[in-house]
Amino acid sequence: MPTASEKLVKILKLERDQSYKNTAVIGGLGAFAVNWLKEAHSQAKSEAHHLVADDIAQMMEQYDLLETRPERQEAVTYMLDRLMMRVPAREDFVPRRDWSAEEDDAPPADAPSASRAPAPTKPETRRERKSKAERLARDAERAPKREKPPKFAAAASDQPKAGAMIDEEGGHSAVEMEFEIAYVGTVEPDIPPEPRLARPPRIRRKMDAAQIADVDHAMQSSVEKIKGVGKRIAEMLAQLQINTLRDLLYYVPVRHDDYTRLVLLRHLQPSDSLVTVIGTVANGHIRAASGGRKDFVFTLEDGSGVEMLVTFFGQEWMRQKVRNGDPLVLSGRVGVYRNMLQMTNPEWEPLDAENLHTRGIVPIYRLTKGLSAKRMRTLMKTIVDYWTERLPDPLPEPLLERAELADLGWALRHRHFPEGNDHLQHAKRRLAFDALLEIQLALLANRRDWQAVRAAPLQADDDWFDRFLETVFPYPLTGAQQRALQDIRGDVSRDLPMNRLIQGDVGSGKTAVAIAALALAFVNDKQAALMAPTSILAEQHYRSVSEALEKMPGSIKPKVALLTGALPKPERDAVRAGLADGSIDVVIGTHALIMGGVEFFDLGLAIIDEQHRFGVQQRGALRGKGSNPHLLIMTATPIPRTLALTLHADLDLSIIDEMPPGRTPIRTTVRHPIEREHVYDFITSQLELGRQAFIVHPLVEASDKIEARSAVEAYEQLKEVFHHHRVGLLHGKMKPDEKDAAMIGFAQGQFDILVTTSVAEVGVNVPNASVMMIEGANRFGLSQLHQFRGRVGRGEHPGYCILVPDKNTPESLDRLAVMESTTDGFVLAEYDWKLRGAGDLLSVQQSGSSELQDAELMTPELVELAHREALTLYAEDPELSLPQHQRLRAKVQRRKDARSDVS
Ligand code: ADP
Ligand code: MG
Repeated sequence: MPTASEKLVKILKLERDQSYKNTAVIGGLGAFAVNWLKEAHSQAKSEAHHLVADDIAQMMEQYDLLETRPERQEAVTYMLDRLMMRVPAREDFVPRRDWSAEEDDAPPADAPSASRAPAPTKPETRRERKSKAERLARDAERAPKREKPPKFAAAASDQPKAGAMIDEEGGHSAVEMEFEIAYVGTVEPDIPPEPRLARPPRIRRKMDAAQIADVDHAMQSSVEKIKGVGKRIAEMLAQLQINTLRDLLYYVPVRHDDYTRLVLLRHLQPSDSLVTVIGTVANGHIRAASGGRKDFVFTLEDGSGVEMLVTFFGQEWMRQKVRNGDPLVLSGRVGVYRNMLQMTNPEWEPLDAENLHTRGIVPIYRLTKGLSAKRMRTLMKTIVDYWTERLPDPLPEPLLERAELADLGWALRHRHFPEGNDHLQHAKRRLAFDALLEIQLALLANRRDWQAVRAAPLQADDDWFDRFLETVFPYPLTGAQQRALQDIRGDVSRDLPMNRLIQGDVGSGKTAVAIAALALAFVNDKQAALMAPTSILAEQHYRSVSEALEKMPGSIKPKVALLTGALPKPERDAVRAGLADGSIDVVIGTHALIMGGVEFFDLGLAIIDEQHRFGVQQRGALRGKGSNPHLLIMTATPIPRTLALTLHADLDLSIIDEMPPGRTPIRTTVRHPIEREHVYDFITSQLELGRQAFIVHPLVEASDKIEARSAVEAYEQLKEVFHHHRVGLLHGKMKPDEKDAAMIGFAQGQFDILVTTSVAEVGVNVPNASVMMIEGANRFGLSQLHQFRGRVGRGEHPGYCILVPDKNTPESLDRLAVMESTTDGFVLAEYDWKLRGAGDLLSVQQSGSSELQDAELMTPELVELAHREALTLYAEDPELSLPQHQRLRAKVQRRKDARSDVS
């Protein structure tokens, strides 16, 4: 193993060869200095060695600030000379640490500070371990927040490093001073300050085809091939879906514990953000709670004078794992309970002091039974260290340059073991970019695949269309509806299958457009199908479609049928037979349409409504019912155009951004909980006018069960509040037919008020409903609130939407205020995206797909970038057949297989 000084000589020479651009080590010399210094001290054999190490580390830290080449050249020359002990120390050099204390691993607190006695060999006592954790926490916090170091000549003596003997800041309380004095010289709190990195370094790996093939091959090999991983560990890894080396490398941590930003309990504030603290356990005990639940409770101390209560609800077993005096790392949100700070069910781990010293930012992996955090980390470290240095980058060099993205190996390394938070961000960004790019390329390739099969063109002339629209609809189409229809006509007139997505807000009139398309298929002697997510919606569509097509000009009218799982079997069989022999022309249905056994005589057009409720597979299945029919998809959850282009890169997009005339826009107001009585009065006044109201109850927890219970409770209460009226209930735990009964009952006016959870989202038309009251409104995304709001004001009566937040922070009030100011779903979606990241939007769009991790990184900027680069690549090399695109092609193929949208 090269010594620290040998290593540095090589680096400095490389730096010289690379013209002093601070590129010899990743992250620059400054970042490298921290660990180098530790290594150098540990290898130092004499006082002179220690001094040289300090001197050189200081120069390295300031290297980046040297502006001219001669200055840098001078510095490198000096460092090389100094390393070889050819020159004496600079005159202004001040050794800044008492490295003599370093070799002792935390002797007892009362040892004389200058002691160089060997470390005690007896095991640490509880008390010692405890005070150690306290010191570590304190020292960690004292580590200077990273700022630009002073310019070169001003030696770093005025900038105490973490662990400097004397903190020159001053202003400590007497108690604290005493505390510090007691430990002077006994601790090695060398927590590296966080290195910063404005942009990821450019790395060029020269690899020939054979080397690349070797790596690819290795990546596919089983984890059992890894040294030290036997059958047992391989089985545990398999539990985590890690089978190959590649899986392991891409098994990214769920979070990182940032020891460079540890907080003292004394400085903790109750807050929503995650914090990491360390301390020792005291007074651990079991507390019996109501309902027989047993909680494990203890206080955490870190010597800062404030203690924190830690409660693990229902986790009695932890008593065995966590003992008084144990040093722990806890990560969670801080609240207050009985005047004390409290964390409930935090993430926790035994303190591993080594992390604190050597890592700074420590990855936390999701584990499985038998696999310890430490073991996992060690394994990862070995793999990451070795392979990320050797990983070829599938993205072409020019793209990386243009997009300023990190090299893949570098990104994976820092995704696991980041040197600093900047590094982690760059790493996440690169990986998120890859996902976005690959998905788009996969979608584009899909589109090419299915467009390779011809479709039957559907045509009709303008005269026919004019007559159709005139006789069928009592109103003229809006401009936006006409444009969407023109888009569709253009698509289907060709022998390439249409793949079009219509985005239009609730009530924008998508159904009319769909009806015209269905009729177009009919006059071209083709069958057409419309699929909706629920039977209520299907029935609603069935009524409006049959009614409309009945009015079609001409003597031959299409035969329209309904197919849902709710139909009695004989009727279902009859519809199936009609579809198979061609006697049914248009069918409206639910999932029942794509079941086995449903066959079409000649399906020419398939329409899917509320597409976000269906998966890609179902889309493929419906398409598979014909010989490459034209496909039209409609959605009322608007998403920003760029995001739509990414998630639906395989679809052409039409946007209906205009509402039919004559609507009074819904009035939206935010009301505080204390004004609830007024809101109830208002609702009563509306009910007395003969209107109906929705009351949406907040999603208290992500669990259906709890949600249902709280909805039931709310329902019981509201029945009393509105005892003169009829109140109905609808929640997610009800059986499908109970749900339908509640919905239909409400639509038919059997109830005045419907208390519901988010189920109200499903687009059922209740024209008589005029009030939408949403409790806990701050818990929903704006797009979702907008969906709820779209349920009222659909008839002739003005609609009202009342938002009642259960949290009054300025941010949540500001966010809700946006609801008051606009009724444009696209504007709201953009807001959601900017304020809360793509998470909400993706969850609506993709129903739980894990394809896009790190959704918070899907910023407009990154999505746009990936979109641009995908199109550039696609234009240049649609099949990705160029040699430099081979590996990207393989990755895209994997995505494509995973989605398997090919029918
Ligand atoms: P969505 O886009 O939410 O599916 P619908 O198609 O259900 O909207 O239309 C909502 C209402 O607007 C329906 O009652 C429909 O009859 C009416 N509508 C649709 N287009 C127009 C138009 N151009 N002018 C007036 N009313 C229209
Ligand atoms: Mg609709």
